[in-house]
Amino acid sequence: MIKRRFIAGATCPQCGAMDKIVRVEQGDRIYMECIACNMERNLDEAPPRDHPTDEPMLGQPVTIRPLKK
Ligand SMILES: [Zn+2]
Repeated sequence: MIKRRFIAGATCPQCGAMDKIVRVEQGDRIYMECIACNMERNLDEAPPRDHPTDEPMLGQPVTIRPLKK
């Protein structure tokens, strides 16, 4: 029995198609598949990363003023 479920917002690392990635469960095997280019990737070996997390997590800049009159 094969279960397929779309991964919302996922981008194919191979062809760049968006919302074409399905998560496939086939018995004990779980992998993701691109329905646009038929790319398959084993989720156990290489988890997909939609966006590299290299960007620093910066919030809004906060200015601290010394409390002096
Ligand atoms: Zn693809």
